[in-house]
Amino acid sequence: MAAGKRDYYEVLGVSRDVDPQEMKKAYRKLALKYHPDHNEGAEAEEKFKELSEAYGVLSDPEKRARYDRGGFAGLDGMSSEDIFSNINFGDIFGGGGGSVFDDIFGFGRGGRRRGPAPGSSVEVEITVPLKRILTGGEETVTYNRFEACPTCDGTRAKPGTEARLCAECGGGGQKVFTIQQQGMTFQQVAVCPECRGQGTIIEEYCPDCDGRGSVEGETKIEINIPPGIEEGVALRVPGHGNLSPDPGAPPGDLIVVINTEKDKRFKRRGEHLYRDIKIQIPDAVFGTKVDVPTLVGELEVKIPAGTQPGTTMRIPNEGLPVFRSGRRGDIYLNILVEIPKKPSKEEKKIFKQLQELNEKKH
Ligand SMILES: [Zn+2]
Ligand SMILES: [Zn+2]
Repeated sequence: MAAGKRDYYEVLGVSRDVDPQEMKKAYRKLALKYHPDHNEGAEAEEKFKELSEAYGVLSDPEKRARYDRGGFAGLDGMSSEDIFSNINFGDIFGGGGGSVFDDIFGFGRGGRRRGPAPGSSVEVEITVPLKRILTGGEETVTYNRFEACPTCDGTRAKPGTEARLCAECGGGGQKVFTIQQQGMTFQQVAVCPECRGQGTIIEEYCPDCDGRGSVEGETKIEINIPPGIEEGVALRVPGHGNLSPDPGAPPGDLIVVINTEKDKRFKRRGEHLYRDIKIQIPDAVFGTKVDVPTLVGELEVKIPAGTQPGTTMRIPNEGLPVFRSGRRGDIYLNILVEIPKKPSKEEKKIFKQLQELNEKKH
């Protein structure tokens, strides 16, 4: 911390008992004024760094307390990075405002200015019953996303205040930059950095969204589930994600991951459905008929005589549709033979006879 520095409160032009909101406003105003993107020369950049250092310290309650107690000496041992890491430039100048500051402070390197970035995607999982996977159709998805702030209608300006025309670009939202590269001079038209292409500057930000223009809210959408959709597949619904912090940029996408709802009747594996069937020992010996549920009703299935425990029986084409093929999967029955745990007196007698018969065979 070099000597001859100006008092931080003085730099920001605020009183020593300034509250954080007031200080943020003061910093925003001055920082925009000395914004190096539209101020030639090292002086503006130095001024801007001085402002940001002051704000970086005073906006952090702990650092502010140290400064109040000990002045610059109270901050000894703190690097510029320590100080600036506290400033959320995106919060102060609206999303995307960080890039130019990153360049000045050397946090990021080689980042080129890009066009307005679309909003981020929102991912949600939904659980769909088997009958919907069979027939396909609409399902309601309820989720949270960033939407236009209802107070300012997404304009980011405090209601009742007026945005002024951007002096930098004259309201056109574009600016010509001159670039020198390998001895050649290029002119490039880019988005005006002061108003970020909006053509207007907001003097007072909306208090409800803190000037972001968006708030998080719950929303619903009907999405169409195609028949036979596979487990874990993600459906993309373009434009239904988060609002972009960049004015004029498209919103992000909604991504809906499909899960299969647990079903009492079946386990799903791809397009095939699995179910255990319990039969009694005599039924396994002599054969029997059982009613088996399907996706749409019931079906009578013949269990042949001499069926072994663990036998798999297949009911063709009663499973789920195969996605985009017109084919259907199968139902598989796993045959379990029930062994009585507490046989009755009479059953015991019969099993005893069976045992004696078996012993004679050997
Ligand atoms: Zn708002
Ligand atoms: Zn402008």
